[in-house]
Amino acid sequence: MAWGNQPARALTDGVEAARVLHLEMASSGDLSLRLDLLASAIKGRIAFSTSLGIEDQAILHAIAASGAAIDVFTLDTGRLFPETIDTIAESEARYGIKIRVLAPEAGEVEALVARDGVLGFRNSIEARKSCCHVRKVVPLKRGLEGAAGWVTGLRRGQSGGRADVPFAAWDEAFKLIKLNPIADWPLETLEAYIQEHAIPVNPLHANGFPSIGCAPCTRAIRPGEDIRAGRWWWESDWGKECGLHDRPRAVAAE
Ligand code: SF4
Repeated sequence: MAWGNQPARALTDGVEAARVLHLEMASSGDLSLRLDLLASAIKGRIAFSTSLGIEDQAILHAIAASGAAIDVFTLDTGRLFPETIDTIAESEARYGIKIRVLAPEAGEVEALVARDGVLGFRNSIEARKSCCHVRKVVPLKRGLEGAAGWVTGLRRGQSGGRADVPFAAWDEAFKLIKLNPIADWPLETLEAYIQEHAIPVNPLHANGFPSIGCAPCTRAIRPGEDIRAGRWWWESDWGKECGLHDRPRAVAAE
């Protein structure tokens, strides 16, 4: 199965290509094999957006080990924890991989802060989504421009809203195949993989932060809380996404 990013390619071709790739990835539990499968299936540029969280660090390790030509980038929102910045530097040193750091447009940030204030995202869901849009979604679009595939570290166990994440699905908004090679990994599998390969991780994970975003919007969780309970904790539990992963998708049936 091969699929490319030709503009004339019909939506149905992308959906079908994603469906086949999803089934192929589902039949293999090995992360390296899944990366091989997606790298050979997608002929255009493949981009990996990393937040430097534990999931993404596992994928970064596998990409480095496989030598797959995957473009790695991250979004520096201007509000990241210093530990996250340190993890970028440590990962680049460990793997010899350049992580492209994409920043939001300065003028857009200034206009946002002038309108809503430096902590305006706490005032309403709309204000929070505006901030995420300027600081994350717009730079993400830039990072994915021209890409044929988009690798993410989404896992079904991360939250109720991610319970049905497929391995591969057509993303009509970005016109590419979104790839989630560890979608079915439980946390135990992920942690064992990290330990086995001595993969560098953000030190905040050890201090009660299983999911790490921007500093003012992330807190440590208490025992028994949902993994993403510390993200935008002042909002309701369902649908707490920043706009990067909440798009309608044409899902490949498993
Ligand atoms: S997570 Fe918070 S600070 Fe970061 S972009 Fe979203 S609202 Fe803004």
